[in-house]
Amino acid sequence: MALAGELGLKWGGTGATVRAVTACKGTDCRRGVFDTHRLALQLDRAFFGTTAPKKFKIGVYGCPNSLGKARGQDVGILPAPGEAGRFLLFVGGMMGRRPRLGDELGFSLPESALVEAVGRILAFYRRHGAEGQRLGDLLEEGGAPLLERLRAELKELA
Ligand code: SF4
Repeated sequence: MALAGELGLKWGGTGATVRAVTACKGTDCRRGVFDTHRLALQLDRAFFGTTAPKKFKIGVYGCPNSLGKARGQDVGILPAPGEAGRFLLFVGGMMGRRPRLGDELGFSLPESALVEAVGRILAFYRRHGAEGQRLGDLLEEGGAPLLERLRAELKELA
């Protein structure tokens, strides 16, 4: 039996790490307006398996039908309605026993800025989050002032 490495598979889907990036069908779906798989692969290559205060989930969706799913991720990404080539980001969502809807940034970003934006969110989380603290819990604890600081770090990419 071939080893995972020989097949191009990677270990690391558990613990306090960035989990495998998930994506919907994107342009394989009649409603999808962009290639979710391409972006998910870019994000996976950049961040999968890297450490974080606690697990960190990224989801990419091809249309607003998955708004609920996008708001259930540490970072959820979907196309901005009526703004071709631009995207909405939601931060600090989680499911499980204490579900929380992710906060909207309040502005859209171009596709070219999305990998950098997720990198900045992760850096912010690593800088401010305590060991074992989800991003959503950090944002709850810090309240509006902390969310505004995160927004300011991302706004310059808009
Ligand atoms: S989120 Fe939209 S594009 Fe993605 S599978 Fe659902 S309906 Fe299709």
